[in-house]
Amino acid sequence: MNRRILLLGGITEALALARRLGPQHVYSLAGIGRVPQDLQCQVRVGGFGGAEGLAGYLREAGISLLIDATHPYAAQISRNAAKAARSTGIACWALRRPAWQAQKGDDWREVDDWAGLIGALKPFRRPLFTLGREPLQHLDEIPPGQFWTLRALEACPGNARCEVIGARGPFRIDDERALFQRRCIDVLISKNSGSVATEPKLEVARELGLPVLVLRRPVLPGVDRIFESLHDLAAALDL
Ligand code: NAP
Repeated sequence: MNRRILLLGGITEALALARRLGPQHVYSLAGIGRVPQDLQCQVRVGGFGGAEGLAGYLREAGISLLIDATHPYAAQISRNAAKAARSTGIACWALRRPAWQAQKGDDWREVDDWAGLIGALKPFRRPLFTLGREPLQHLDEIPPGQFWTLRALEACPGNARCEVIGARGPFRIDDERALFQRRCIDVLISKNSGSVATEPKLEVARELGLPVLVLRRPVLPGVDRIFESLHDLAAALDL
């Protein structure tokens, strides 16, 4: 078949799929993380310039199938993908991991945005942030009496009320338990990524009876087909 895929990456499953794509296909990355050098397919790094830029690229590159395998909180690129596919008449498929579901014993409190999060954090003293780098913009706003532990992909300087630690998943439950205990964590802050690699922190919060402030998932656009697992998507692609 003379198919040419543009795969928008951003999650582990996207890289796994990219490893199965042949040289006529393109794997696209925003350019904030590591760029793999050992793929057979082409790798494109950097934005397209919004939905219109992406539509232009789809036409020029002769793409016949667009696959959105970006992170569930990367809503802008998903909206751009759906719009560009509609305007060019190219099919758009998406890999959308199911959200984690609270289990018995969980105390999850959903918040809509940063303001909601800061309000919900007031009763706590030693939060563990696992939201990526966004909290770094708010280090000057940490109230007296709170000490933040912020986990991001790369360590960087914090301040007197915040330490930033760098770590990449997958995380092991024993290490997560040790982290919570060593740092006397009293609340966890997380997105609902649905990723197996980062799930152990939720188990530890459950074990220790700690609340979890969960940033609500953004609403993502409708596309032609949605797959919940890499396995199902790869099967539909015959890969
Ligand atoms: P975003 O807000 O949805 O996207 C911002 C802009 O980055 C897009 O408009 C697009 O620029 C560019 N972009 C994003 N993904 C791209 C891709 N795969 N290929 C080419 N350009 C891309 O996304 P974000 O939340 O900043 O995340 C950036 C990337 O990191 C995404 O690929 C996402 O999957 C990954 N990521 C995000 C999170 C998270 O929590 N948000 C976590 C893990 C990984 P143009 O408009 O110029 O095309």
